[in-house]
Parts: sequence; C-alpha cells; structure tokens
Amino acid sequence: MIWDHRLRLRANTAPKPKRFLFLFSDTGGGHRASSQAVKDEMERLYGSAAAVEMVDIFTEMERWPFDRFPAWYPICVGLNGIPWGVGFHLSDGVHLVKTMSKLVWPYARRSFCDLLRQHPADVIVSFHPIPNYALSLGLRRMGWEIPLGIVAVDLVTVHAGWFVSAADTYLVPTYAAKARAMRWSITESRIRVTGMPTRRRFITSMELSKSRARTQLNLPQDRPMVLIVGGGEGLGPLGQVVRLLACRRPDAHIVVITGHNRSLYQELAHSDLPIHIQIEGFVSNMEVWMRAADILVTKAGPNSLAEAFLAGLPLVLYTALPGQEEGNIDHVVGNGAGIWAPLPRMAVRAVLQLLHDPEKRAAMAKKSQALARPLATEQIAREIWQLARPRRQTSVSTPVGCYPASVGPIDRAGN
Ligand code: UDP
Repeated sequence: MIWDHRLRLRANTAPKPKRFLFLFSDTGGGHRASSQAVKDEMERLYGSAAAVEMVDIFTEMERWPFDRFPAWYPICVGLNGIPWGVGFHLSDGVHLVKTMSKLVWPYARRSFCDLLRQHPADVIVSFHPIPNYALSLGLRRMGWEIPLGIVAVDLVTVHAGWFVSAADTYLVPTYAAKARAMRWSITESRIRVTGMPTRRRFITSMELSKSRARTQLNLPQDRPMVLIVGGGEGLGPLGQVVRLLACRRPDAHIVVITGHNRSLYQELAHSDLPIHIQIEGFVSNMEVWMRAADILVTKAGPNSLAEAFLAGLPLVLYTALPGQEEGNIDHVVGNGAGIWAPLPRMAVRAVLQLLHDPEKRAAMAKKSQALARPLATEQIAREIWQLARPRRQTSVSTPVGCYPASVGPIDRAGN
C-alpha cells in the first residue's frame, strides 16, 4: 500500500519528457532516413526523457498541392533532372524563397497552423528546405517562441531554403555548406558543422567484415562485388548502366538495388541480360549490402554518399541531381574518393577500370573512409537536445489566420 503510494508519487513528480517535432517529407529517401537516424540517436542517448515525433509535413498538411509533393518527386526529378535543376537555380536565394513563401502563405497557413497545433512540441527541427520560412511565419503569428533547429541534409550545394528561417541552430554537414549558410547571412555562432546524420546501423556495421556481410546476404565470396543504387527512388539512367555493364561481362558479382522504382525492377528482372545480375527492390539493410561491396555505383545523393564513406567504398557517380547534388561530385572527386561518370558508357568504363586495378580501388576506398563522420548523428542529437532548454513565452499577439497562443499546445513552463 505504502509502496503503491510512493510509486504513484514518484510517477507524478518524474520530469515530463521533452517533446521534439521532426519535420521531413518523403521527397526522395534521404529526408526520412536522416530524421529517423537522429530520432533513434536521441532515444538512445536520452531514453524516455526525449519524445520525438516524425511528421511528413506535406502529406499531413492534407492540402493540395502540398500533399502531392512526395508522389510528384520522382516525376520532377525525371528528364535527367533538368526541370529540377532549373527550379533549383531559379529559386536559390533567400529573398526569392521568402517572397514565394509569403505568396503561398495565405493559402497554406490554416493547414500549416493546424498541423503545428496537432503536434505539440518543445523543440521543432526541420529536415527539409521547403517549409522553413513558413515555419517562422507560423510560429511568429501564433506567438509561440519555440526553439527551432535546421538539419541541412545536402552535403555541399545547400539550397537557400534551408537558411530563410530565424532558427536557433543550423546543423550542416560540411564546411562548404557552412560557407553557403554564411553567404545567406546566417551568423557563424549559430552554425555547427557536424557531418551528415546516418542511421546507427551504418556505424555499428563498420565492424562487420566483408566475408560475414556476404555470408549474411548469400553472396559469392570469390569475386569482387559491384553494388549499383540510385537513391531511394532508383533514379537516373540506372537501366542503361546495368545493360551496358552486363554486355562487358565483368568478372564480378553485380547487384542492382532499384529502391522504390518498381518499373525499373520489373524491366531489369525481365530483361535478357548476357550475364546473371542480381536485382533487388527496396532493401532495409543497405548497410550490409555496402559492407559486402567492393565498388558502389550511385547517384550522388548525400545520404548514400555519407553511408558509402562509412563503409569505405570507392565510388562511381553515374548521375547527380542538377543544382542540389552538383557540389557532391566535387566533394567526392576532389577528395579522391570516386569517379564522376555522367554517361552510362563512362560509368561502365570506370567500373571496369576499378575492377582491373585493385590498388587504385584500395587507395580510393581509403580516401572514401577518410570522409566518414561516424560521430555526426550523435553530435546532431546532442545539439538538438540543447535546444530544449527552458525559455520565456513571448507576449501574445493575436495571430492572423491562426489560433491564439493562449489555446496553443506549447507550455514553455514545462507543465
Ligand atoms: N535506401 C534504402 N534502401 C533502398 C534504397 C535506398 O534504405 O533500397 C536509402 C539509402 O540507404 C539512403 C537513402 O535511401 O539512405 C537515399 O538517400 P539519398 O540522399 O542518397 O538519395 P534520395 O533518395 O534522397 O534522392
């Protein structure tokens, strides 16, 4: 009876968990992968003291056209990414992003504010470049002074959209990204260079030997393995690279991971290739595939690259999204970790060259590993945790088109 009473008393006085709202969207595989990595890390470090909620901001807004963005992403990056690149360069400026966000705001604000109300938090963190100015507008108009963090998940050519909000902290993966942030007038004291967040299993799998990884995946041990991926959506001329490579009959085991690209999977699975090529759809154990591989042929997606660095893989970059991923090419090639091969025949030549030259492969693997940032996710998690420090609530101005702060869900006093 006394114990029961004491337990109840303790439960009542236990500090409430800090609530973190992570905003991302499934436009590509990377935003979800990064936010999931940081969520897992916060739970590992702070246990039940951190309650992290991940929300796909566009899907949950339930407002056309925003809720269609994840479905439209593969179409937008089609046609060799040319429309995407044009859009990227035309919109890459803080004034432009602010103007566009302000124009859209009257249409979006109700759904946006509803979404924030439905997901009360002590700290908000954005893992996406698009909603950031709207986030500042929404918080300001509701009179909520919630700490805001931005985790920029592009390696080098980081779009201005990441830097338009009045965030407390900007966590960027490289010094080149930091230079971009400063170019958009973010004060240096608010920027931290952390590296890209990666799921913890990519870090723990650094201990996994190649032969054990191959045993786990039922792969041959006696030949080099070439892994071909195109990000979460299997983008770029992946099919052409595979067909051309098959025609050259390399003495290697070749695995293609098509991700969510079902039509590419079907196309390759049913094509009559001159050698056996293993085709996989979306895999949830990419870290094991990377540990098993000797060469990674990939789109220059930031997450795949950060993961490949951890696995110490020499890289052949067969495509890059114009604009956003262009800087990643220099990062890889400039640091000696890979080869830029923008045409399928160039990619095939690069793969054959690396297969025939194990010394070059080993040197590149070393340089790739030198770019790895295994502590990045932990550092990001700790920086975000710091944002949850207690703060004073601002005086409340009646929001325009939103709900009054007095009925808002955030209680900064921690009650
Ligand atoms: N990925 C995965 N399984 C797959 C294909 C991809 O887990 O079958 C993951 C991959 O490990 C990486 C992400 O999807 O974390 C792709 O991110 P990236 O930034 O490389 O490209 P995006 O898909 O965002 O264009």
